[in-house]
Amino acid sequence: MSDRIYLDHNATTPVDPRVLEKILPYFTEIYGNAASNDHDFGYEAKKAVDKAREQIARVINAKPEEIIFTSGATESDNIALRGIAEKYADKGDHIITCVTEHKAVLDVCKKLESLGKKITYLPVDQYGMVDPEDVRKAITPDTILISLMFANNEIGTIHPIEEIGKIATEHDIFFHTDAAQAVGHLPIDVQKMNIHLMSMSGHKIYGPKGIGALYRKKSNPRVEIEPITFGGGHERGVRSGTLNVPAIVGFGEAVRIGNKEMNKENKKYREWAEYMLTELRKEVPEIQLNGHPKNRLPNNLNISIPGIESRALIVKLKEVAIATGSACTSAKVEPSHVIEALGFGDQRAHNALRFSFGRQNTQEKIDQAMNHLVSNIKRLKAFSSK
Ligand SMILES: *Cc1c(COP(=O)(O)O)cnc(C)c1O
Repeated sequence: MSDRIYLDHNATTPVDPRVLEKILPYFTEIYGNAASNDHDFGYEAKKAVDKAREQIARVINAKPEEIIFTSGATESDNIALRGIAEKYADKGDHIITCVTEHKAVLDVCKKLESLGKKITYLPVDQYGMVDPEDVRKAITPDTILISLMFANNEIGTIHPIEEIGKIATEHDIFFHTDAAQAVGHLPIDVQKMNIHLMSMSGHKIYGPKGIGALYRKKSNPRVEIEPITFGGGHERGVRSGTLNVPAIVGFGEAVRIGNKEMNKENKKYREWAEYMLTELRKEVPEIQLNGHPKNRLPNNLNISIPGIESRALIVKLKEVAIATGSACTSAKVEPSHVIEALGFGDQRAHNALRFSFGRQNTQEKIDQAMNHLVSNIKRLKAFSSK
C-alpha cells in the first residue's frame, strides 16, 4: 500500500488531515439538523454550514447566499443546465457548450436534446481550447446559456473564462462554468469573470466525496433556477434535502486551505510536470504533450507516447497510479472524447497517460515514479520492436 505512488489527483484527492480534523466532531457531537431551528443542536449545525458557505463565497468573491450545497459537481451541472433550460424556456431553447466537457455536462445536454432543446457543441483547437470568437458566432436570439468548463479534467487546458463571460454578458446570456478542477487550485473571481453559475466539487480539493456546490448569482443579473428535485425547500428551494453537515464543514475548510496554499503548491507541480516531460523525452523524444502548453492546470501532465498502448503500460506499472486516455467498456476500449477532440485521431488517445500531482507527493516519489515508468516504457519498446 505505502509503496504505491498516487498520481491521479484529477480523479480524486485524499481528504487533507486538517480537513478531517474539522469534520469529525460533526458526526457524533454536533449532529443537529441545520434546518431544525427549534433548539441549539440545529442552531450549531446551521452555524457550521453558514461558516462553510462564507469560506467558499469569500474564495470566489461571491455572497454566502449565492452558494447552494449539492452532492458534487455532477449534481451542480445537472441543476444548472436543466434548471435554466426549464426556467427560461419561454426566453429561448438554445445552449452553447463544447465537445471536451465532462460527461456531467455532455450527458445532461443529450437529455435536453431529447426534450427538444437545441445544443451547439463547439469544437476545440489542437490544445483543447475553445475560440471565444466561435462562442460569439454560435449565439442566436434563442440562446439562453453558455456552459464551458473552467479547466479540463483530462488534459488540463484552462479556458479563456473571463473573455467568454464578457461575451455572455454583452449578449444578456447566462454563463455557467464547471470549475470542479479549478476551485481551490486557481484564482477565481466570479464578479470579474462574469460567471453566473459555477459547479464545484469537494473531493477534487482534499475535501470529502459526495459534497459540492453550485454558485448562483443573485443580483445583476439575478439567475432563477427551476429545481430538479423537490422536498423541504432547503438551499433557497433550489436543492431540497437535509444538509450533509460534516461534509459541508470539510468542503469549506478544504476550499479555504486550497486557496491559501495554491501558489506554493502550483509552483511545485509546474516544476514536476516540466521535469517529468524533460526526463521522459530523453528516453522517448517523440512524446506528445496533450493540452495547452501554458494555459493548463499546474498539477496535470497529459502525454501520448507513440508506439506505446497506455493500457498495456499501466498493467505493468503496478507501483504508480495514473490514468489513461481511454476507458474500457464491456465491449471495447473507448478512446477519450477529450483527446479525440484535439483532432489527432484515436491512436493519440490510446497512447495517452495522465499524471496529476497532489499535496502529499514528494520529489522522491516523483523520481521513483519516473524510474518505474521509464523502465516499463523501455521494456514495452524492446518487446514491440522484436
Ligand atoms: C470530477 C469532475 C466532475 C464530477 O464531480 P463530482 O463531484 O464527482 O460529481 C465534473 N466535472 C469535472 C470537470 C470534474 O473534474
